[in-house]
Amino acid sequence: ESLINRIAAGEIIHRPASALKELVENCLDAGSTSIKVTVKDGGLKLLQIQDNGCGIRKADLPILAERFTTSKLSSFSDLSRISTYGFRGEALASISHVSRLSVITKTKREACAWKASYSDGTLTPVKPGLTADPKPCAGNDGTTIIIEDLFYNTPTRLSAVRSSSEEYSRILDVITKYAIHNPRVSFVCKKAGSASPDVTTPLNSEVPQAIRLLYGHAVAKELLHKTLENETSRHNKDDPVTWSAESFFTNANYQAKKMVFLLFINHRLVESPRLKRALEGVYNGILPKGASPFIYLSLDIDPKAVDVNVHPTKREVHFLNEEEIITRICDAIQSELAAQSH
Ligand code: ADP
Ligand code: MG
Repeated sequence: ESLINRIAAGEIIHRPASALKELVENCLDAGSTSIKVTVKDGGLKLLQIQDNGCGIRKADLPILAERFTTSKLSSFSDLSRISTYGFRGEALASISHVSRLSVITKTKREACAWKASYSDGTLTPVKPGLTADPKPCAGNDGTTIIIEDLFYNTPTRLSAVRSSSEEYSRILDVITKYAIHNPRVSFVCKKAGSASPDVTTPLNSEVPQAIRLLYGHAVAKELLHKTLENETSRHNKDDPVTWSAESFFTNANYQAKKMVFLLFINHRLVESPRLKRALEGVYNGILPKGASPFIYLSLDIDPKAVDVNVHPTKREVHFLNEEEIITRICDAIQSELAAQSH
């Protein structure tokens, strides 16, 4: 049974960066304003993420790593109003099957922090010789998740991870993108033992400043901004879908070799090859051959229109009225680019 669980977990957690994405989303869901990531050996030896969010109640710790444990649904009717992809309570459970997982957490109400460790979905002693229940410890308000020896028991996953420097750049990429999307939150990422972080963003910044800091002045100085608000789109007469989009994209003066495309739908980093291709098409008309833009797009869609059958950790997403919404976004960006060049 544990082998099957491990294989299933490996389907959800493909690599250190996919574990990290889940953990960052949890920190943001917990209302954190500071997220600090520490990495050893590309996240395989250690992936630690510390936040200053709401914390986890001590009473919730025993079942934290069981499948379908989630504090994000209070009733079944919530299922139709899911605004987070992380509603299935599978991330921590999966991680506990393929690593040594520990949690240190403190809510405002608790007098001290509590540490708990997990393996295969259940509590294990935080130190050999102790009982498995959570132990009191020192700690600030918020949560620290510690993942050690990721994939130690799943050799196929481990061998699929080629180099720790490649994994580390994937981790930095995830953090960079979430930092752009959450400019008010301070992000720090460093290698364990290193004095200087590889990513640091300040508290209470704004999207253009974050883009300048993380992607550089060359991008930031050619950036345009467009908001599409309270749009409606109809897949059938009685059931309109409301959506809005916030976009930042470079003008014709910016010509990179490779396209950078950051897409968030309902605040989750996702991929939409269709939308990406459509945007490439827009820029094909204005950039010389071989040149590519930078685009950051945040799309909010009525959650009932987002395909919830897509597994939460599969990044490719589909939504109702995709065609129409994509066309409207592309048209808006195109006309903004055209207005600029005149
Ligand atoms: P989900 O996010 O889908 O609910 P997870 O497995 O990612 O499932 O997390 C399970 C639960 O653990 C969450 O619902 C939340 O209650 C709690 N949790 C996880 N990480 C944090 C965190 N950083 N701060 C507060 N609570 C957390
Ligand atoms: Mg989650």
